[in-house]
Amino acid sequence: MGAPLHRLPGKARPRSALGCRGGPCGRSERPQALPRRSKARFVFPLAGNHKAPTPSFLSELLGTLSAAVFPTDCLLCGQELREPGGASICRACWDSLQPWLGPACERCGLPFASLQAANSVDSLCGECRLGEQEFDTAKSYGLYSGNLRQAILYLKFHRKEQLANRLGALLARAFESLPEADAAIVSPVPLHPSRKRQRGFNQAELLARGLVRSLHSEGRSLQLVADLLRRVRATIPQVGLSVSARRENVRGVFSVARPERVRNCAVVLVDDVMTTGATLSACAAALKRAGASRVLALSLARATPQFPDSGSWPEETSA
Ligand SMILES: [Zn+2]
Ligand SMILES: [Zn+2]
Repeated sequence: MGAPLHRLPGKARPRSALGCRGGPCGRSERPQALPRRSKARFVFPLAGNHKAPTPSFLSELLGTLSAAVFPTDCLLCGQELREPGGASICRACWDSLQPWLGPACERCGLPFASLQAANSVDSLCGECRLGEQEFDTAKSYGLYSGNLRQAILYLKFHRKEQLANRLGALLARAFESLPEADAAIVSPVPLHPSRKRQRGFNQAELLARGLVRSLHSEGRSLQLVADLLRRVRATIPQVGLSVSARRENVRGVFSVARPERVRNCAVVLVDDVMTTGATLSACAAALKRAGASRVLALSLARATPQFPDSGSWPEETSA
């Protein structure tokens, strides 16, 4: 296999700088130590990490005012922010969050490291050739690497609705390539209730809200149904498991809480990271059993060991 033909621009941080503790990108993966913060940083009681539900517009307004009065450093590169707002990420770092435009599996969106695979007869990856995926099609915005990876990790461990809204706008760009998605309802991949209590939020749900918000601003009327799916049992972390073990780990884990909402409907499943697709596939199986006509999987980033920068198979989604 040749060298990757496409790489994301921007600064790829060395893996050791990403703060992985228990493996390349698993449950214990956390963002690197945050950049130096301005001494004058002030946290409004209703914004930031506060777990009580806060109307997003109020949170965003307070965040913008806070950034204007008490400037902070960029979450990703540590440079002092010159413009208020922007989810505490500088323009250069936002510009580095580029989509994957290289060759990819035409069904699940797996990026190919060479044009050879893309030029094969049906342009499908091995998993899709075997018919292992239950969703109809999947698309990710970019590779799980560099600044995109860092931004996702930050969102995962720090509830930050402004960041989710801006990342949701990137998801909206990937959404454009999903077929017949305009008539769909949007469902985040759920956390198990115990995990959600522990974390205080579901990052996939924050991203789904950001996606719907972005689409609404373009005059499109997809509807978010945040409680459409539920995890009926907790699972062990996917990190370190083989593809088949991952599938077995999440088999039968999801059920549809509101089957009347999905009958004969298309559903857009949203998650932060797609690795093998086992979790999204298990969600899709539950939705199809409940009568969904199509299931389209949308994620912000795709992790694949074909690209060294993207790490080797992190824990899949929302766990
Ligand atoms: Zn920056
Ligand atoms: Zn595929």
